[in-house]
Amino acid sequence: KIRVRYAPSPTGHLHIGNARTALFNYLFARHNNGTMVIRIEDTDSKRNIADGERSQLENLTWLGIDWDEGPDKPGDFGPYRQSERQAIYLPLIKQLLDKGLAYESYMTEDELNAQREEQKANGEAPRYIYEYEGMSDEEISKKQAEARAAGLKPVVRIRVPENKTYEFDDMVKGHISFDSNTIGGDFVIQKRDGVPTYNFAVVVDDHMMEITHVLRGDDHIANTPKQLVVYEAFAWEPPVFGHMTLIINTETGKKLSKRDESVLQFIEQYRALGYLPDAMFNFITLLGWSPVGEKEIFNRKELINMFDPKRLSRSPASFDGKKLEWINNQYVKNAKEDGVVDSALKQLIKAGKVEKNPDPKTIEWARKLISLFKQQMSYTGEIVKLSEIFFDEPPKLDEAAMKELSDESAKTVLNEFAKNVAELPLFDATEIQNTIYAIQKETGIRGRKLYMPIRIATTRETHGPELAASIELLGKEKALKHLEKTLA
Ligand code: GLU
Repeated sequence: KIRVRYAPSPTGHLHIGNARTALFNYLFARHNNGTMVIRIEDTDSKRNIADGERSQLENLTWLGIDWDEGPDKPGDFGPYRQSERQAIYLPLIKQLLDKGLAYESYMTEDELNAQREEQKANGEAPRYIYEYEGMSDEEISKKQAEARAAGLKPVVRIRVPENKTYEFDDMVKGHISFDSNTIGGDFVIQKRDGVPTYNFAVVVDDHMMEITHVLRGDDHIANTPKQLVVYEAFAWEPPVFGHMTLIINTETGKKLSKRDESVLQFIEQYRALGYLPDAMFNFITLLGWSPVGEKEIFNRKELINMFDPKRLSRSPASFDGKKLEWINNQYVKNAKEDGVVDSALKQLIKAGKVEKNPDPKTIEWARKLISLFKQQMSYTGEIVKLSEIFFDEPPKLDEAAMKELSDESAKTVLNEFAKNVAELPLFDATEIQNTIYAIQKETGIRGRKLYMPIRIATTRETHGPELAASIELLGKEKALKHLEKTLA
């Protein structure tokens, strides 16, 4: 039975890259009726942020990803936070020490730094050099006892075999082999404070939690040989690994990094702008995975049914914000009216355009306004910009718009329209449209020459949603005010 895990470190909020890792694990688990585990890798306490775990999990839930076991869902393999698993790690470290597969290392940080500096100066790759080289067991024990007596604290290092090739078949990248001499020497599995390192804890946990497949980011590929060393020391069978490709920012052509400010990268930021979770889910699935065929819009169920890890791409995925906007617009257009209205109304309130706790009349008006722009909105936060004219002072006309209004026929249309519209008993889209028809009949002016001046004069834009409905929502007072201003 397939068991996969998503193993976030609560050092920040949910990033697009992490969300993708979670999502592919989720799709793989659900496609195979497997189990999805969440494990919190919080051993690096200095880097953890206060709200990290809660916010990561909450954002996963928002995206529509659920799990079967995790810190909030007890299962047979808990606890699901590494900080609570110390009692599991310590005896295993002891076991390796007893077997001589690991040892206490008392070199200080200063000594280690000096070693690295020297290696760098000689143009060598930095690596740890065995500090007890050529010593007998007794000499080693003596040296260690002295260090202890001097108050030094050890790290525990695992022995890395020399001249050995570590190989694995990566689900994404195919066959991979590493020369053990490139690992950098015996590496630390337990830090001076007694806490195991990531490369040790991850192996213990994946083994103990019976994880069958480890699907994770490309940035971990260099850790895999180290982890294979740990599996070997325990004579445990490693899981199948799959390392997903980098994500490249289409704007910059560079690897998407958390410091890159040209694009929003945290799920929360998209939420705040009114992106829809289904659309985000759909978009993220296409970052480094592709279905058969050209179609790109799929719901969760379809994605679970279709998901095949063989179609995970070997070449970098490109993060294209424009594509995300396009996908989100597809979802906004087709979403149930209420969802979009709720979300867009919240945005208008947040922006201070609509008062908090609006009365039913305002809600009704806002509902119509939002529906008017539904086709156009990439995300519901866009309503604020799109509907500026309905709230703020009308902007000055630009040159192109002025030109449209400069000929005689435009003036005729606007004068007629202002006169007729002022007299309308009922100011609604139908009546407004009838007024426009009547002007056409009376003056013989039609098409663009008829509609464009009215559009510009009332909405101050050369394009926009359905004209009569827009004017209705603008309201008689504003519409007339804009007209007057144009004619003046
Ligand atoms: N905790 C690691 C991270 O946040 C994931 C480790 C893994 O998937 O093996 O990058």
